[in-house]
Amino acid sequence: MTACRKKNVVILGSTGSIGLQTLDVIEKHADMFKLLGIAAKNEVSVLAEQIQRYHPAAAAVGDNLSYQELRSKAAKDCAVLSGLDGLCEIASWPEADIVVIAVSGAIGIKPTLAAIQSGKRVALANKETLVAAGDIVMKNARDNNADILPVDSEHSAVFQCLQGESQHLKKIWLTASGGPFKDLDKIQLDNVTVDMALKHPNWIMGPKITIDSATLMNKGLEVIEAHHLFGINYDKIDVVVQRESIIHSMVELLDGSFLAHLGSHDMRIPIQYALTFPDRVVSSAPALDFAALGALHFERPDMEKFPALALAYRAGQMGGTMPAVLNAANEIAVNRFLVREIAFTAIPLLVEKVMERHTPVNDPNLDTILQADEWARRMCREL
Ligand code: MG
Repeated sequence: MTACRKKNVVILGSTGSIGLQTLDVIEKHADMFKLLGIAAKNEVSVLAEQIQRYHPAAAAVGDNLSYQELRSKAAKDCAVLSGLDGLCEIASWPEADIVVIAVSGAIGIKPTLAAIQSGKRVALANKETLVAAGDIVMKNARDNNADILPVDSEHSAVFQCLQGESQHLKKIWLTASGGPFKDLDKIQLDNVTVDMALKHPNWIMGPKITIDSATLMNKGLEVIEAHHLFGINYDKIDVVVQRESIIHSMVELLDGSFLAHLGSHDMRIPIQYALTFPDRVVSSAPALDFAALGALHFERPDMEKFPALALAYRAGQMGGTMPAVLNAANEIAVNRFLVREIAFTAIPLLVEKVMERHTPVNDPNLDTILQADEWARRMCREL
């Protein structure tokens, strides 16, 4: 049997949690994939090790200082690029087949568009891009015939359940673990520390998404992400708490059937599926042991205690520039909590205040979205 040509993969955010797990998948399936490019903000020594180990053709870093440092450490035959332009260049590298967008935050918008416009398959782990600029990103994907494959576990689950069923879809059910503070009362929530918030019960993730999971903003961003990815109205997207994170999401079909995607909490499953789709290959993820698991538990999310989820629904339904404002304000509020400037419960309050001060623009172009994003960041720092 002759092997197919290996797929060339670019990873933006190769030093983060999703990036490292993507490298793990590529290494396990070295017969199928070759690492072509990597990028990270400023983790120069990790990037240098990755260059030595995988010999990518190109690497990109966020700023000029990191560029100088990486250029001096990297192999001579590896192109080194810097800044947002560098990210976009590596995302549209001619030999690339698949671009994994695993950077955190709205910084992912332009590189995602660059990959789409050059016809790459985009494996999207960066939900902020769809939240802020979903209409533009999805239109570009349609116009350029580019596939966007979700890496977010919930959306990968929905995507898998919908294979051959999208015309029968009635409702999407996103599952949420409920985060580490599901059972705290309001006073206890006021006293949550950064260390407490950084410990997620089920998933190991980067700091931004871990805090978002604790506030339920992550689920809110995922609701907006699902709206764009699957072209479905907000009243047909619901959230249910599934404490064990074993059901990664469900679809409800017209005839009353529900299809669910189950698996262990291992991001290598959705990452790998986005790379191999429509095929499946073996993975290193541990198998599920249902008897050991015993039971699965469901409950409604508490939107009063966790107002971020309701804010995201509101921003999504208002549309225009409002989701970009929600997202940008949240990025800054989470940062301010991480540097211990504000309390945990102030995160959604700040986001709400910024949203209230914003007059949304309908059908915004990319510049208008980026301006709204910048305005919201400034406003959230000042409040
Ligand atoms: Mg998720």
